Amino acid sequence: MTRPAAKGWCPTTRRPMMSGDGLLVRVKPAYGRLDAQALTCLADLSDQFGNGVLDLTSRANLQIRGVSEQAYPALLSSLQTAGLAGANLKADQLNLTLAPFTGKNSLGWRCADYLYAAADDLPELPAKFGFSVDCGEKRYLTNASADLFIEAASGGGVLLRCAGSTDGLVTDEDNLLTSVRTILDWYLGLQAGAPDTPPVRMRKLLEAHDPPYRATGHLPHAPEHQLAVGPAAGPHIIAAPYGQLTAGDLRQLAAANSSVQITTGRMMIVETLPGPDSHLITTSEDKRLSVAVCPGAPHCPSASVRTRDLADSLVRTGAWSGGKTLHISGCAKGCAAPEARDICIVGRDGRFDIVEKGCAWQAPSSTGILTTDILERVSELGS
Ligand code: SF4
Repeated sequence: MTRPAAKGWCPTTRRPMMSGDGLLVRVKPAYGRLDAQALTCLADLSDQFGNGVLDLTSRANLQIRGVSEQAYPALLSSLQTAGLAGANLKADQLNLTLAPFTGKNSLGWRCADYLYAAADDLPELPAKFGFSVDCGEKRYLTNASADLFIEAASGGGVLLRCAGSTDGLVTDEDNLLTSVRTILDWYLGLQAGAPDTPPVRMRKLLEAHDPPYRATGHLPHAPEHQLAVGPAAGPHIIAAPYGQLTAGDLRQLAAANSSVQITTGRMMIVETLPGPDSHLITTSEDKRLSVAVCPGAPHCPSASVRTRDLADSLVRTGAWSGGKTLHISGCAKGCAAPEARDICIVGRDGRFDIVEKGCAWQAPSSTGILTTDILERVSELGS
């Protein structure tokens, strides 16, 4: 079975997307940082104009959920006033992920600076096109959903590496934007040959084309590193359960921290952990980390089941031991996990199907399981 096509687009503050619970308005924190004032502002705006629920996305953005079409203009105006919306359409659309722990005025920070400042002058890019800026002593974004990686080169300088390529184009800070444009022009030129088909991501494009630089052995200088929930030599890395935050979570974080880094993998880096009543994930042993869950009902119009409620029930009752990988999907599109999981629970017409060692859109081994039976069924499979 092939994966059903996902509908919709990448929302921004200026181009929100309708979902099951209203408009989704995506805020892209500059440099991945939100200070206490911005966190509190987002919490207040989410309560005032949305439903108090926010998504923490895999690309380190925050989505305000549940915004009505009537409330949206006032929300946009408030975000602009607070400096939480891009200055113009292109700045709003720019997808830039800055590696965690990137220090102010470091090479990575400066590269991000150049891109933010040039956003309006860059060519029109597909909505999903992303830059990953990962210039530190360790590389954290190797597996990020980006198209162009900006890294420190092994021999010095800046390496521009297309997704899917191990080699890259070496440049320096003075010529960074010129070199970026060279790669973007090449990428867009190849897309121009097929104007009626959706844009192809860089990684896919490189399956059929050589990158616009010759293999020269210019490699990233830093080793890959995996970010994980837990203490991190001073700060703490925490996660949002199933990628969802509430306005209350943001206020708790703001009360304890002057600034929070929003980072990939739906994680955050904080100086101080939120209080004991917080439901955020603070330890790597938390079983919720082994569960991938899409928003489900009532947030997505394609869903007929409450995916996150089911995930909480499975963890709270101990029906899910966490020893295997679990995906709970509101429908067969499988948005939360494009790769196979040990157990995949898929909602259909208010009941559940189960796919074992597969993806949401593949043939299930059990179908039509009632809500009252699903905990026991998963407990049997998960043990
Ligand atoms: S997988 Fe979940 S989020 Fe994606 S379309 Fe289906 S119900 Fe919606």
